[in-house]
Parts: sequence; structure tokens; C-alpha cells
Amino acid sequence: MPAITLEEAIDGPSHLHDNQPYDYLIVGAGFAGSVIAERLAAGLGQNVLLIDRREHIAGNAYDCKDAAGIMIHRYGPHIFHTNAQRIVDYLSQFTEWRPYEHRVLASVDEHLVPIPINLTTLNELFGLSMNEEQAQAFLASRAEPVANIRTSEDVVINQIGRELYEKFFRGYTRKQWGLDPSELDRSVTSRVPTRTNTDDRYFTDTFQMMPAQGYTHMFEQMLDHSRIDLLLATDFNVVRDRVQYKQLIYCGPIDEFFDHCFGKLPYRSLRFQHETLPQTQLQDVAVVNFPDPAVPHTRITEYKHLTGQIHAHTSISYEFPCAEGEPYYPIPRPENAELYKRYNTLADNTPGVTFLGRLGTYKYYNMDQVVGQALALYQRIEAELQGNPRAVKLEAG
Ligand code: FAD
Ligand code: UDP
Repeated sequence: MPAITLEEAIDGPSHLHDNQPYDYLIVGAGFAGSVIAERLAAGLGQNVLLIDRREHIAGNAYDCKDAAGIMIHRYGPHIFHTNAQRIVDYLSQFTEWRPYEHRVLASVDEHLVPIPINLTTLNELFGLSMNEEQAQAFLASRAEPVANIRTSEDVVINQIGRELYEKFFRGYTRKQWGLDPSELDRSVTSRVPTRTNTDDRYFTDTFQMMPAQGYTHMFEQMLDHSRIDLLLATDFNVVRDRVQYKQLIYCGPIDEFFDHCFGKLPYRSLRFQHETLPQTQLQDVAVVNFPDPAVPHTRITEYKHLTGQIHAHTSISYEFPCAEGEPYYPIPRPENAELYKRYNTLADNTPGVTFLGRLGTYKYYNMDQVVGQALALYQRIEAELQGNPRAVKLEAG
């Protein structure tokens, strides 16, 4: 992973020293860009220039130590979970893992109770001592069946009724998205199930773990290849007409690439407030959620739970959702999907560029889904190269 300067990138692949174009310019060194860079370089011997406008690799999964030496996630808590063995196998080439099951508590009515809502949540909140069957009946009696479940409100009301919806989902969602759940696709709140047993894990995937030495370290291993040149703190616009390349893979916001020609795709942003506290522990679990609309933040994360680090102090972050700033979340709702479709059609008709990742394809994807998307793109490119070895290179002209 030679880190190079703009001048060196203009000269072409650093290991060739002969002013050749790069086979691929890849914009964005997050999961999408880094996985496809690794595959193209290591799998197909392609010369790659990977750039990012941030001063670091790993995209939103970036982790680093704070001033006290405590490992934190600069862009909020990132927990790896997947059901796909092949994605675990792929990433395991670059990291060892620390087993970790994520647990979250919600601060509701002066109680700290498990979310996803489970038997413990219901018993604690309502002062009951139900068993699983009774909890099922309890929820069934509160659920308000919705014939056609379209929105994020419908999903929850249909399952658990209005009171619990208002306690756990409405306020949180309004803060997180700046929209009422009735204005968001069902897919958003569907991410959080409801249980009547005592399972208090946030995820139920087969694989749940954290890279043992952190995400940034995993990315360093992934990008450690002589055919990958890395240019950080550099926007695509700076290299666009100055670096020679045959193909472009773009993992930034697709609407920005096309100068917002059909209008801006909405993204939700966050402001992170990181703090180091002079105590060993703040909260019992890694994340506490605050659905209360009167509280301005959505959640507090305490990183030592995620990393297992032993330290006399602890580091936390508050998340304050906002409209302006880094584009962290595509906003799943029909009008945005329509607008994205127009950009996607334009992308299909623009030779030489492929869009990838959460921002490039405007999808509310988890990390494993982005890895899967990048590996699928690699398979397509590999098949094209094997079918007609010159096809991929000629396409960009
Ligand atoms: P990104 O990580 O956003 O990388 C895109 C990169 O492109 C960025 O580094 C950006 O600087 C760069 N870029 C954009 N435009 C340009 C340009 N014009 N020029 C140069 N560079 C450019 N997923 C999970 O699986 N588990 C979790 O627990 C989890 N928690 C999350 C918590 C938060 C707060 C957020 C925001 C996301 C979370 N995710 C989680 C999702 C995860 O972050 C994404 O799935 C993943 O990081 C997407 O990778 P990506 O490469 O598509 O995008
Ligand atoms: N959600 C909620 N209350 C919670 C947790 C989640 O209303 O306590 C809703 C909210 O709309 C959130 C969505 O469910 O955006 C998905 O939650 P998840 O934890 O998957 O969000 P992410 O980690 O992607 O921010």
C-alpha cells in the first residue's frame, strides 16, 4: 500500500515508473473501495489508485486511539455481524477476531431496558412477571393489525401497538431521521425485531465479532499490496482530469458525481461528541438508546465494551442527528428511491464508471452487505476478463 502524493499519482502506478495509466481509479477507501481494490490488485494483477478525501482509510469504520490511548470509532459504533460464511472467510485473511455480542439498553420511563424489546423489557416496564406465552398474548392484545404494511410506523404498530411504538420508536426515529416513521420505508424499523423470550442480543446473526486489532488495522492489511497506490486527503475532483486511468469505481455519493443534475439525494448526517471520562466504566452495555424526544442525542456508546480494552479511563460518544454534514445515511423512502433510479439510469449510460457502496448505490447497507456487493462486482469483472481478456480494459476507451 504505497501512500503516494498527487504528483506521484500523476506519474502513474508507482511500482512501474513508466507513466502508464492506472487500470482502475477507485474513489473512497471504505469497505466498498478497499475490498474491490484488494481483489483487483491481488486477484487480477490490476494496477489500482485508491483515493479518499479523508486523511485516513476505512471510511466510516475508521477506528483510532483517543488522547488517553483508548480505542474509539470516530464515526460511531461499528459492530460486525453477518450470516455469510464467505464474507467472514474473505475478511479473515486480514484480521483475527474478538468474539462480541452486541447488547443495547433503552432509557424509557426512568427504566433502562433491553432493546430489541424482549420479555425482560415488558416485565420491567409494566411491573409484570409474564412468561413467554403470556408475553406473546400481551403483545397480541396490543398489536393493531395493519393490512398493508408500507411504512416504518406500520411495521411497529402492527407488531406491538401504539403505546410501545411511542415509547421506543417514534421519538428515536424522528430524531434520527428528521422524519416521522410514517414517512419512512418499512425497512428502517424492521431492522429492530421484537422478542418474547429473554434473548437480549441486538443481532442474531451466525457471526458476531470485532476485528481483534480494530478496523483500521484490518484495512491496512487488506491494502498492503504493491499494486495499490493510496492517495489520501484528496477529492476526486482534484484527480479527475490529472491522473490517467482506464476504469473508474466510485464509492462516493452518486448524485455528487453527476453534479446533482437531477437534484440532491437526501442523506442524514450525525454530529459525534467524543468524551474521555476519568472513570473505568459509564454504562453496563456498549450502547444506550434515548428515544425520549426531549433528549437531543439518540445514543451513547462506550467503546471499551466493543474492544475489550482494559484501561483506567473510558471513552464515550454521543450522537446528534442533523440534516447537514457528512452523508452517513441514505434515507429509505419512495421519493428518494425514485430520484436514485434516475441517477442509476444515468450511471448505466455512462461508460467507464461503476458505482459501489452505501453512497454510490444509495443503499442503507451494513458493512457485510457492502463487502458482499464489492465481491460480487469483482466476480463480474473477473468473468468479463476471463471471457474476453481485453473487454474490460477497452470499454473505458
Ligand atoms: P464509506 O465507509 O462511507 O466510505 C466511502 C468513502 O468515500 C469515505 O471515506 C469518503 O470520504 C470517500 N469519498 C466520498 N466521496 C469522495 C470523493 N469525491 N473523493 C474522495 N473520496 C470520497 N454497519 C454494520 O455492519 N454494523 C454497524 O454496527 C454499523 N454501524 C454504523 C454506525 C454509523 C453511525 C454509521 C454511519 C454506519 C454504520 N454502519 C454499520 C454502516 C457502515 O458504516 C457501512 O456499511 C460501510 O462503512 C459502508 O462502506 P462504504 O465503503 O460503502 O462507505
Ligand atoms: N430505532 C428506534 N429505536 C431504537 C432503535 C432503533 O426507533 O431504540 C429505529 C430507528 O428508526 C433506527 C432504526 O430503528 O434508525 C434502525 O435501527 P439500527 O439500530 O439498525 O440503526 P443504525 O445502527 O443503522 O443507526
